[in-house]
Amino acid sequence: MAEKPTNEFWRDLKPITNVFRPDAKPEVYIPDAATEDERYYVPFTETVSSRPLWISPDQNRWADILMAKEAGVVNRHYHPHEVFAYTISGKWGYLEHDWTATAGDFIFESPGEGHTLVAYEHEDPMRAFFIVTGPLVWLDEDGEPEGYFDVHNYIEMCRAHYEKVGLGADYVDTLFR
Ligand code: FE
Repeated sequence: MAEKPTNEFWRDLKPITNVFRPDAKPEVYIPDAATEDERYYVPFTETVSSRPLWISPDQNRWADILMAKEAGVVNRHYHPHEVFAYTISGKWGYLEHDWTATAGDFIFESPGEGHTLVAYEHEDPMRAFFIVTGPLVWLDEDGEPEGYFDVHNYIEMCRAHYEKVGLGADYVDTLFR
């Protein structure tokens, strides 16, 4: 079980024994998800990087910490599916919206939205928890599609980076569910 209780009112509760159904996959527990250890952040653009926390190849979906140490950009793209975000630190937004997100702010973007993500200069790095369903469709200056980025690109990118920094490409496989 988790840490032993001391005086908590639930201290005599017993954990269930049949935790996982036969085909269920184990949970993911990642301490210090928004770590300051930069090896975990995979460069996504020249100025913004991503720490993968959970990857679902089957659903073309992933959860990550998006991080920018200074001003940063993820250039124009379109989402055919939804995006959730929760801001941990720093300041960021989209050129296309009138709000600016800081620590504690939640964002949901409906399927069918195009945008340009920008991170501002701030005393703290931009760190936000995202749940993204791929693909991102890259857009040219006229808003026309010019490429895509989906979970398979993400996996490839993460594997190459973790191999390079010495964590090993296999680390990425531990995040698959
Ligand atoms: Fe986006």
